[in-house]
Amino acid sequence: LANEDSLTKLYNKRFGRDNLALCMNDAEKDNRALSIYLLDIDHFKNYNDTNGHLAGDEVLRQIGRLLLSVIRADDFAVLFGGEEFLVVFQETDKEGALMAAEKIRRQVEGYPFPFQDRQPGGNLTVSGGVAAFRTDAQNSTDLIRLADEALYEAKRQGRNRVIACRTPYLSADGGSISSDLPSLPT
Ligand code: GH3
Ligand code: MG
Ligand code: MG
Repeated sequence: LANEDSLTKLYNKRFGRDNLALCMNDAEKDNRALSIYLLDIDHFKNYNDTNGHLAGDEVLRQIGRLLLSVIRADDFAVLFGGEEFLVVFQETDKEGALMAAEKIRRQVEGYPFPFQDRQPGGNLTVSGGVAAFRTDAQNSTDLIRLADEALYEAKRQGRNRVIACRTPYLSADGGSISSDLPSLPT
């Protein structure tokens, strides 16, 4: 019970972060892939302001149920912030995670949330970013940061979309330097 969010019954942020770190350790040991999807509800302030906080809470519960219905048994979902969710896809590379994330985005887009006609575009949608262990980051802090940057980019590009993070340029010792492309040798 200490590990779950009381509203959505998903894992809470503290447990989700810890569990992600553990899963990344295991994935490292067993040489397995692992990817994450960080998603945020579009224009959720408008939904709350227009329909009330209780209606907003119901949307959070419903998206939680939807995530649980879509993900595999070994995957897990976390309420990561007020209206932000983290999904951890086990044994899934970046391409697989993009497909799974896109499936979730489409299901949210198609779900008949109450009052969603009052949202911008007449629909309640989510934006999200995907990042992959090893390909993009070697530790959970970096992995989440990269997924968050991609989520921000999805918002910037107009919302209701999934964006893969840019694969960072890795230094010779494997540490990530930045997500910018390396400059050409002079
Ligand atoms: P964006 O598309 O850029 O994400 O816009 P937004 O309106 O979703 O983002 P913003 O950060 O402005 O607002 C987030 C809103 O989420 C404001 C807050 O009232 C609502 N929120 C956060 N946590 C909860 C919660 O537990 N329940 C409800 N009902 N609303 C919440
Ligand atoms: Mg937010
Ligand atoms: Mg939002």
